[in-house]
Amino acid sequence: MADLILFWHRRDLRTADNVGLAAARQRSPHVVGVFCLDPHLLQRDDVAPARVTYMIGCLQALRDRYQAAGSQLLIVQADPQVGIVRLAKTLGAAAVFLNRDVEPYGRERDRTVAAALREQGIEVCPFWDQLLHAPTDIAAGGGQPYTVYTPFWRKWSGKPKAAPAEILAGATGLTAAAQALAQQAGAIALPTAKDLGFVWDTPLVIEPGEAGALEKLTQFCDRAITEYGEERNFPFHPGTSQLSAALKFGAIGVRTVWAATVAAMEQSRSDEARQSIQTWQQELAWREFYQHALFHFPQLAEGPYRQPFKNFPWANNEAYFQAWCDGRTGYPIVDAAMRQMKAIGWMHNRCRMIVASFLTKDLLVDGRLGEKYFMQNLIDGDLSANNGGWQWSTSSGMDPKPLRIFNPASQAKKFDPEAEYIREWLPELRSVETADLVAGTISPLERDRCCYPGAIVDHNVQQRLFKAHYQRQKEEGKESVEGEGGEESAE
Ligand SMILES: Cc1cc2nc3c(=O)[nH]c(=O)nc-3n(C[C@H](O)[C@H](O)[C@H](O)COP(=O)(O)OP(=O)(O)OC[C@H]3O[C@@H](n4cnc5c(N)ncnc54)[C@H](O)[C@@H]3O)c2cc1C
Repeated sequence: MADLILFWHRRDLRTADNVGLAAARQRSPHVVGVFCLDPHLLQRDDVAPARVTYMIGCLQALRDRYQAAGSQLLIVQADPQVGIVRLAKTLGAAAVFLNRDVEPYGRERDRTVAAALREQGIEVCPFWDQLLHAPTDIAAGGGQPYTVYTPFWRKWSGKPKAAPAEILAGATGLTAAAQALAQQAGAIALPTAKDLGFVWDTPLVIEPGEAGALEKLTQFCDRAITEYGEERNFPFHPGTSQLSAALKFGAIGVRTVWAATVAAMEQSRSDEARQSIQTWQQELAWREFYQHALFHFPQLAEGPYRQPFKNFPWANNEAYFQAWCDGRTGYPIVDAAMRQMKAIGWMHNRCRMIVASFLTKDLLVDGRLGEKYFMQNLIDGDLSANNGGWQWSTSSGMDPKPLRIFNPASQAKKFDPEAEYIREWLPELRSVETADLVAGTISPLERDRCCYPGAIVDHNVQQRLFKAHYQRQKEEGKESVEGEGGEESAE
């Protein structure tokens, strides 16, 4: 019998275009998948029910794919240092193959598990899969990691991209006797999200699994991608891909996604369309930029990168924070966005920026509270993208300029001019005049009639307060942030 290789899935829940899995299959046909339900991750206080439901759905689909390829997917629920090592040892695996992670916990976990496996004489083979370019492949002149996106993009986009990896096929799984051994070593039937204590009964924005992700990609590249440059800004329009959860859990390979953009580029007939496709490619690069940043600067996960924000005097008013979470700040565009996330576990990017700016610059609440609340609700909640997005919006991250302050009314005017998005998520305001919804100038009488709160703060007052705090922090910290230009409000 050929050597048994266990392939340990984490955020690569697919059999197609999976670099590590393809390498495992090349080495031996006897490849069996394993996924570890890690209590350390599932018992955190920032786990979103929508995200777990999506992940379990992806695992169901992955289990079917393994069966179709002639093998099995095993599930264990344990500390990986125990669960993975015991399984590999009991089954007599020659090697465990896996794809690397960028998150601090994942990297430490992998180091520990790899050491324990090697101690048992089991080989460990790690690969880079979730990125088009590994963090160590993209460096600035002196070999330093980039801390600013634009030069990163220039370097990143100039490098050739790998083609999709081979799909798993012609594998052999465990015999009945080996399956019984696996059960003794902790393999269990795949639980439901509810079994794990997570209840999410709303339809997911994307169907879990490889087929659902591929379908979304195909639909997007057939049409919307060529108009993405403009349409991506309007939260009521279906102008973005909604592939974020699939990319987070690896229900689709990033090489497959890239190849689809290249094909769309080849077929496009106008400069405008080509520019739109490139804008979408730039979003994929943002995803990689933040993953590289977290890999090189793991301290980003703990708090701000920039000095003025290290001891910022956040007011952290609990009532304000709660009103923001509940979508009851009295600012219609902010509240609509927060209710969208609560209802469907996903929020449009434009609105993520608006609500993050509002929490930090208007309510003077530490962005880390918002970052955690996002993780508790988002189907695509992802440490690097979420942390990067929050630090970008707070102005506390790597991107040195400008000091972004979004005016909710101007944002709504530009990007939801007919208040369609606002009306969709704030049904109590459906009968209010469009101009008042957009500008947030709803009369007290009308607010009462609609049971909608008054504005909890005055945007103009609050942004002045925020700027004054910021200026003081800069002076006290004597910070000179390299490259920081004049501050400006992003309206
Ligand atoms: C405050 C804040 C928090 C965020 N939290 C997350 C998060 O937890 N998880 C997450 O995946 N994205 C996060 N983003 C980035 C972005 O909002 C989402 O990726 C996007 O809205 C997902 O929708 P889509 O798949 O339709 O994106 P599209 O516009 O179709 O973009 C394609 C893909 O590119 C990636 N991408 C796009 N924009 C960004 C970005 N700014 N940063 C990193 N990757 C990006 C995503 O993988 C996305 O699926 C956050 C942004 C902000 C401002």
